[in-house]
Amino acid sequence: MTSPSSSPSEIAVVTGASRGIGKEIALSLAKAGLEVVVNYSNSSEEAEKVVTEIISTGGKAYKVQANISKEKEAEDLIKTVLERSKRIDVLVNNAGITRDGLIMRMKTTDWQSVIDLNLSGVFHCTRAVSRTMIKQKKGRIINITSVVGLMGNAGQANYSASKAGVVGLTKSCAKEFASRGITVNAVAPGFIATDMTKDLAAEEILNAIPLRKFGTPNQVASLVRFLAMDSGAEYITGQVIQIDGGMVMS
Ligand code: NAP
Repeated sequence: MTSPSSSPSEIAVVTGASRGIGKEIALSLAKAGLEVVVNYSNSSEEAEKVVTEIISTGGKAYKVQANISKEKEAEDLIKTVLERSKRIDVLVNNAGITRDGLIMRMKTTDWQSVIDLNLSGVFHCTRAVSRTMIKQKKGRIINITSVVGLMGNAGQANYSASKAGVVGLTKSCAKEFASRGITVNAVAPGFIATDMTKDLAAEEILNAIPLRKFGTPNQVASLVRFLAMDSGAEYITGQVIQIDGGMVMS
């Protein structure tokens, strides 16, 4: 879509880009020449570090705080970006949380907060960018789901329901936007080494992964960059692409 030297930059918004997978996606898209909006909810300092790292290596970025589980904050995020950057070429719906527990004891607040961010957050941001991308006749939306949304997981009913919802949302949006030059795809990671997975019992998990190791945020970022920028990805829409060391083979 663009080269590092092209001007003016194309604009990518990455939700939850202060840490983990989102941070690597932001760094990777910036390295590829996009101006990146680093969204975060609480981690202002971490988000600032991501912006500084991008700028210090010759890229363009700025941070915008928004709790994207809140409709108004998500809309304000997109409004702020459009006022400042005038366009949005890539939206990566990455922000996500877990609130694990067996369903018998799951608190309604833990159900709701996961759905509000992981599923409704994707809806809020996608709806907010849709008018602009339709007008541009161009856009790429990448939603970060999870293999857990495809296979379920004991103790993660809220999380797997939210991620399965993202799969349906991705396919529906892909069909709605296909005639408008906008692609919508989902990336479904397995176990990736981030804050989200740092307390998990590694040995049991490794036995379920044919490649016998956790993935890295960088590997996920590389797949997202392909979907966001590669000319080959122009012809890919409505897909869920797994990056899981072979955990789920369908
Ligand atoms: P992480 O390290 O915990 O980072 C989560 C990011 O989301 C942080 O930048 C955080 O920002 C942001 N965030 C949290 N609540 C937010 C909110 N309400 N509004 C905006 N941003 C918010 O998580 P991760 O492992 O990188 O996961 C990233 C995505 O990949 C998630 O959607 C996750 O479900 C998915 N995923 C991860 C794995 C894995 O194994 N790690 C596997 C499959 C899918 P603050 O610090 O500012 O709160």
